Amino acid sequence: MNHYDIIIIGTGAGGGTIAQALSESSARILIVERGDFVPQEEQNWNPEAVWKHLRYRARERWVDDRGREFVPYTHYGVGGNTKFWGSVLYRLRREDFQAVEHLDGVSPAWPIDYDTLAPYYDLAERLYHVRGGNGVDRTEPPRPAYPYEPVPHAPEMAAIVDRLRKQGLHPSPLPLGLLRVGEDDGCILCNTCNSFVCKLHAKSESDVCCVRPAVSRPNVTLWTNTTATRLITAPSGRKVEAVEIERDGVTDRVHAPLVVVSCGAVNSAALLLRSANDKHPTGLANSSGLVGVRYMAHLATMMQGFHPLKKNSTVFQKTVAINDFYLRGPKTHYPLGQIQSQGRTHGVMAQTVVPWIPLWAYEAWVSRGVDWLVMSEDLPALSNRVMVDSQGRIQLHYQPNNVKAHRRLVTQTKRILRRLGYWLIVTHSHGNTNTTHQCGTLCFGTDPAASVLDPYCRTHDIENLFVVDASFFPSSAAVNPGLTIAAQALRVGDHIKDTHL
Ligand SMILES: Cc1cc2nc3c(=O)[nH]c(=O)nc-3n(C[C@H](O)[C@H](O)[C@H](O)COP(=O)(O)OP(=O)(O)OC[C@H]3O[C@@H](n4cnc5c(N)ncnc54)[C@H](O)[C@@H]3O)c2cc1C
Ligand code: SF4
Repeated sequence: MNHYDIIIIGTGAGGGTIAQALSESSARILIVERGDFVPQEEQNWNPEAVWKHLRYRARERWVDDRGREFVPYTHYGVGGNTKFWGSVLYRLRREDFQAVEHLDGVSPAWPIDYDTLAPYYDLAERLYHVRGGNGVDRTEPPRPAYPYEPVPHAPEMAAIVDRLRKQGLHPSPLPLGLLRVGEDDGCILCNTCNSFVCKLHAKSESDVCCVRPAVSRPNVTLWTNTTATRLITAPSGRKVEAVEIERDGVTDRVHAPLVVVSCGAVNSAALLLRSANDKHPTGLANSSGLVGVRYMAHLATMMQGFHPLKKNSTVFQKTVAINDFYLRGPKTHYPLGQIQSQGRTHGVMAQTVVPWIPLWAYEAWVSRGVDWLVMSEDLPALSNRVMVDSQGRIQLHYQPNNVKAHRRLVTQTKRILRRLGYWLIVTHSHGNTNTTHQCGTLCFGTDPAASVLDPYCRTHDIENLFVVDASFFPSSAAVNPGLTIAAQALRVGDHIKDTHL
């Protein structure tokens, strides 16, 4: 009953995707997920439930480098954070796989190049139904046509795109994972997508696209509300022989010759650290001392262009990207990052920043605003790291770097928005507590002294332990991470099928 061929821990972009890939084999697979299925309910699309009452957020608190507790921006449930993502599904640029000099230092090379991951990007885009425009984005690496047509711009966004072109910019369609757009049971292009759960199950996310199809097969078992608390190694210390779990308040062990951890970059590192034993006194797979180290999360600023006399009638606004400064800025040869249009801000969301301003004032304001996200790469630093304190709490030490590049991009975006005619440009950032794009805590590489995982995401130290989630990233790049996590999970899935099954 407690013995399987493979145990997968976590069901997000990494875990859900590899579960789907491996479910096609005859291996008996147990998936362990600490959260539950998110119900389809009215609150899915209710900004108050989502933003004021944090209905779906992880209940635990983490601690920052000054010992202050904070609520991490993360979710535990089937599908992990993909249930809440904006479904902007980008490939990394070819240059992101190479060493790139930034204003604040070097973004290191990956142990694989773009061409190695490209076939898995193709598969991941089909699995997650990605829609995009062909040949428009000049930074995009070579690729076949997108599986689906891009989401058309709403009329006001189309007008903005025209005016961006007149500024000499090269706006391109955002690649989006949306299911059956415009069809009877499909996506209705609503204004509660990013940070919300899709009530219609029409968002491409891991629960819908991967976990449900996987568990419909007889060889796959899913245990929800089940937390992996430790990995137990054999006496040699070279293999994991059991996963300790907590289920319904009971501690138990499950066994498999192959274990795939995919708890998200912070929790996977924490699990390995919590699994320290005599053979691995500083945490499992930690001979390099790099478990939890090099945490990255992107530098992200939300910007809103506001015009008091113009109501914004766009419902689905998230269709445009500006990548002109991705590889180099306007007056510098350093990369600055990416600008994306964002989902509509709701009054309640804005009110979480300054709660004493009345909701009606926020509603009036956001109804006249157009929302953008400005995102830059942060660089791996040894001092930015995940640790576990004596009470077992997650400690996140993070000081953003490459900040100058991000500020330049914000300044550049302000200029662009002013030229578009906005009277006021408001900026906001969740700062150090924005854990949505967490990555890099178990970086992959060829040198066991300088990385935790090998290029197939197997730990260098423990032969039957793989990690497939955002933790393998050696650099954070400046596009959304989800598709790369999924593509690498598919690549690792193929490798496991070839070598272990
Ligand atoms: C609001 C929001 C918007 C986003 N928008 C985008 C976007 O548009 N595009 C994009 O590419 N990315 C986006 N992201 C980021 C993206 O969701 C993550 O990069 C991605 O989901 C990470 O995948 P993962 O497998 O590393 O971890 P997760 O998706 O976080 O999955 C980890 C899973 O492990 C489970 N788990 C954790 N610990 C344990 C344990 N000990 N035992 C058992 N289970 C455990 C969790 O419950 C969860 O299901 C967004 C994120 C958020 C929060
Ligand atoms: S209907 Fe479409 S736009 Fe709305 S939440 Fe679902 S996937 Fe997102």
